[in-house]
Amino acid sequence: MTVPDTSTCAAPAGLPSRIEHYIGGALMEGARGETFALADPVTNQPYARVAAGDATDVDRAARAARAAFDGGWRDMPVRARAAILMRVADGIEARGAQLAAWESFDTGLPITQAKGQARRAAENFRFFADLIVGLHEDAFRSPGQLGYVLRRATGVAGLITPWNTPFMLESWKLAPALAAGCTVVLKPAEWTPLSASLLPEIMADAGVPDGVFNMVQGIGEVAGAALVAHPGVPLISFTGETTTGQVIMRAAADHLKGLSMELGGKSPVLVFADADLEAALDGCVFGVFSLNGERCTAGSRVLVERSVYDGFVARLAERARAVRVGLPSHPSTEVGALVHPEHYERVLGYVDAGKKEGARVVAGGGRPEHLPEGNFLAPTVFADVTPSMRIFQEEIFGPVVCVTPFDAEDDAIELANGTKYGLAAYLWTSDLARAHRVAERLDAGMQWINSHNVRDLRTPFGGVKASGLGREGGEHSLDFYSELRIVHVALGDTHVPRFGTGTHQGG
Ligand code: NAD
Repeated sequence: MTVPDTSTCAAPAGLPSRIEHYIGGALMEGARGETFALADPVTNQPYARVAAGDATDVDRAARAARAAFDGGWRDMPVRARAAILMRVADGIEARGAQLAAWESFDTGLPITQAKGQARRAAENFRFFADLIVGLHEDAFRSPGQLGYVLRRATGVAGLITPWNTPFMLESWKLAPALAAGCTVVLKPAEWTPLSASLLPEIMADAGVPDGVFNMVQGIGEVAGAALVAHPGVPLISFTGETTTGQVIMRAAADHLKGLSMELGGKSPVLVFADADLEAALDGCVFGVFSLNGERCTAGSRVLVERSVYDGFVARLAERARAVRVGLPSHPSTEVGALVHPEHYERVLGYVDAGKKEGARVVAGGGRPEHLPEGNFLAPTVFADVTPSMRIFQEEIFGPVVCVTPFDAEDDAIELANGTKYGLAAYLWTSDLARAHRVAERLDAGMQWINSHNVRDLRTPFGGVKASGLGREGGEHSLDFYSELRIVHVALGDTHVPRFGTGTHQGG
């Protein structure tokens, strides 16, 4: 592990000292003028104040969004809307270096990985711009009747996003919502609002009309809850913790809101003895340590067939020890700083729990010696983890992986399915029949066979069990932000049973 030069820990240029709401095309303080402090995860020193939005701010934003929805965005020809979204993508790309630097500074993500996130965010806008241009509405013909579908944007969408890869996840919701013709109120995560503070300029430069994109900063339990409770916001797309999702579902029930829930995960990686073990090892290391392990689809439970278990654990530990932990801004850093001291303490709490429960630490297990300050954790590998341990069951959301042996295919499947989550699963084997057989039995919304997480934007994204409800991705996202209405047309005389004539003729 090389030791990055900690003297290069400079803040990126041009950081704002205040981060405000953006409502109806204008940046503004909150109605009550309250703010909270924002710190970076390396020094944990505050560098900006953020507007702490409340119900009044959310109401303003929801009204501005509704006015823009009725005022033309919904009915704009798709090509015109797509052209604006393409310009949003251009704006993101043009600011790619700044976005990545700010994202890395705010979240602690390694700069090289933050660059990938900015590229992906631009791609999301391009993808949905293309998709709406080619979109069609279904028609159904049956003898005597034609049915055709009207696809209408639903209205104002409330978008609530988490702090991990914040800009990319914001774009993941913004792009389809705007493409579908909805207007939006975005509530970014309170720990990481910095990159989103570039969105108002990007949107305005791209020609997004005032009020189409609105953003209310603030604390989840206040600003987020107000968005969920607002009667003028019929849709909530939420990505975050399962427990928060449950709170939101309860609150949304009062208004019967449409909900998309992308929640937590504890995804298994099944490594069979017949796999290409070198490739599986690469997949395991990248899958859990990239993005600091703060990744919903992280392969955080590695299940290894017993005949190759000891060797695999040794290699995994060796690779984990060689992962470069360092300053997020350093180009060679592979694992940066965890987002916030509170989250850091939580992850350390799991590391302690694993030790106390008797799991064997074979790599990491604490702060790296060369980084005495900041939220740094050495990539940690626990071996001999059993299903009854908390570290096997609960989402840690950091650079911590659990390894468990299995004997037979059925055991592997039982272990893999043995948590409340079901977001992703990864399967490494050279036996084609086994790969498909196992894939069919795994409780996971998304699976990869002999691969890490490589996504095609057209595919359904989402989890089963406690990992989520609904699907995003491709047309699934557009469906979520749209109402599909069916119109039935008689093509000739339709037999209507004649009630009320005194002679019921059946039919
Ligand atoms: P979180 O649930 O704490 O917060 C997410 C967002 O919800 C934030 O903007 C927060 O302010 C807001 N919020 C909090 N309480 C609220 C309330 N009562 N009402 C309305 N909004 C509220 O999640 P987090 O810690 O920011 O993110 C990490 C979690 O997100 C992990 O569990 C991770 O697995 C999950 N995640 C899931 C996916 C996925 O696609 N399934 C993707 C990324 C992250």
